[in-house]
Formats: sequence, C-alpha cells, structure tokens
Amino acid sequence: MSDLPTATLEIDLAALLHNYRALKALAGRAEVAPVVKADAYGLGMAEIAPFLHSHGARTFFVARLEEGIDLRRILRDTSADIYVFDGLRKGQNALFVAHNLRPVLNSLDDYARWITGPSEVVAAAQIDTGMNRLGLRPDQVSQLKSKPNTHRLSLIMSHLACGDQPDHPMNADQLHLFHHHTDGFIGTPKSLANSAGTFMGRDYHFDLVRPGISLYGGGPFGESHPDLRPVAHLSARVLQVRDLKAGDSVGYGAQFTAPSDMTIATIGIGYADGLLRALSGRGHVTIRGRRRPILGRISMDVTSIDVTGLNVQTGDKAVLFGDSPTLDEQATAAQTISYELLTRLGSRFERTYKRI
Ligand SMILES: *Cc1c(COP(=O)(O)O)cnc(C)c1O
Repeated sequence: MSDLPTATLEIDLAALLHNYRALKALAGRAEVAPVVKADAYGLGMAEIAPFLHSHGARTFFVARLEEGIDLRRILRDTSADIYVFDGLRKGQNALFVAHNLRPVLNSLDDYARWITGPSEVVAAAQIDTGMNRLGLRPDQVSQLKSKPNTHRLSLIMSHLACGDQPDHPMNADQLHLFHHHTDGFIGTPKSLANSAGTFMGRDYHFDLVRPGISLYGGGPFGESHPDLRPVAHLSARVLQVRDLKAGDSVGYGAQFTAPSDMTIATIGIGYADGLLRALSGRGHVTIRGRRRPILGRISMDVTSIDVTGLNVQTGDKAVLFGDSPTLDEQATAAQTISYELLTRLGSRFERTYKRI
C-alpha cells in the first residue's frame, strides 16, 4: 500500500459541467460567467477555467490583477472577457492593456484613472447597493453618464450582501436600488447575481450572472442543493488502527477520553492540509460506508476517528467531504461556510482531476 497517496483531492469535472449546465438552465437568457478567483476556490484555475471555456464559457471573473494575468495566459483565447474585481489602481493601466483585462471600477478615483488612461481598456463599474464593501455610492453613479465616448463601459454590476438568506429583506432592497440607479444606462449589460442570486429567480438575473461556489458544488443557501453535484472529494488514508481501553485519551490536550473500550484510526490529514482545526470533536468522516466522528484535536498532519466495530484496516479511505459528508455539512460542523473549507485546502496532498 506504500504507493498510495496519504490524502487525495479528487475534482470531478463531470460534476462541474453538470453544475455549470444547471446554472445555465436557471439563468435562462442571462450569460453564466464563472468566478474563478482564489485559484477557482482552491480547485485549480488552470484546470477549471479552460474546462469551462471548452464548454462555452466566454466571460470570467477573478479578484486580483495577478489572477487575471495568469488566467489570460492559461485560456489562450484572447477574445474571452476577463474581469478583475479589485479595481484599477495607480500604474495598472498598462498591465490591463498588455493582458487585455477588464477592471471593475469601484470608486470615482478608479473611474478617473480609467477615462484619463488608454482607451483600449474596457471596464465594468460596480455600484454599492448596500454591502458597503466595494463600489461607487449610488449618488455617484450619475457621473458615469458623462463618460467620454472614447471609453467603453461593458458592464454595470453590484453584489448581494444576504443572498445566502433568500428571504432576507435586503435582497429586494438591493434589487430595487440597482434598478433605480442603472435602468437609465440603456444598452449597457447589467449583473447583480452571484450563485445565490442565480437561484433567486429571474428578477435577479439581468444580463449576466457570476456564480462561484455553486459551480464547485457548494449550495447557494448554506446547505447542499439538489440541483448541484459535489465536485470536490477529499479523502485520507488510515495510517494506523489502535484499540483503546476505557479512560485512554486521544491526541493533543487529551481532549477526548474513551468512555468505554473502542477502536480508533489515525488518518493522514491535518490542519496543514486545510482540515480546519475547528472540526476537532465536531466533524465526521465516512469510512467503510459509515459516518464516524472525529475524536479530539486535529493535529497538523493527522486526525483521529472512531472506527469501533468497523474492521478498518491500514490504507482504508476516510472521506472528509464529497458525497457524504457533503462540503456544506462539513463546513456547518466547522461553524463556517463551504467557501472557507475549499479555499483553505492545502497543497500537500495529491490532486486528481476525474475527466469526462
Ligand atoms: C466572489 C464573488 C462572486 C461569486 O460569489 P459566489 O457566492 O461564490 O457565487 C460574485 N461576485 C462578486 C463581486 C464576488 O466577489
């Protein structure tokens, strides 16, 4: 068994395609533009973006300029549109030209840099409809109307603060504000929805939707969604099995004490691999078809699980997330969100792409 990797992240491209198509079906006539920032949420932009491109995606979003430069090189298609959420900072115009990238203008300063810069730079403008994070204030939007004809604005967008809670009144408020301030920009495409917004119905779709997490299998509302399939499957091998007597303790800080005789297994994955330490004593794995708890503290390299009665052997596989438990279940157990579980994934384990 020595040739088996200790831990593996398998990325299921058929599931990714299924989710992309599910989002396209929901979005109707709106374009589905994948968000591939943060290395495609930890799953590998170099694989994910060309794959989605080969299935028809022509517009992509990243956060950092450097991510955009990488993506342009990876995609090879010079006509694909790549937007950079971070904005247009001082001295960046030349890089946006050189790599044919589109800044998302987030302030009047960004806007001034744009219209006084080279006209080859096509841009989006972000309007802050209540999240108070990035974007022009609504009362600044009218200034875009006096934009010189030399520069092309290809998209006006905003971002939902409470999309993961579809009944939250802020969603309708933001939708209303977005209409109020952008309806006057006739002929300029509009975008409001992330994954959650894409699931919230036609009113939220406008011309283009920007899903990230749901492409990668995370539910839009904090739990698994029946329209989506798990893309990321994280598993680790059993390194050792041992029998405990009642009263024996496990791991750092002796945080778990066996209430009775039991069998535990030590699996080869820890917080250095991105298995959040918050899952200590809270998370579960699936091993030999059964769901079993994580015992005591997660260490840097290894984690202990209860395998009493399962006849587990060295080399057996324990699933951290995938079909069961799902990414959302494990994230909930860690009191966080699927996004954090994915983007914290480490680089020490094997990554495999299950191709179609
Ligand atoms: C990250 C991000 C998205 C994608 O959000 P998901 O919830 O992952 O679908 C869309 N728009 C903006 C502005 C973002 O920052």
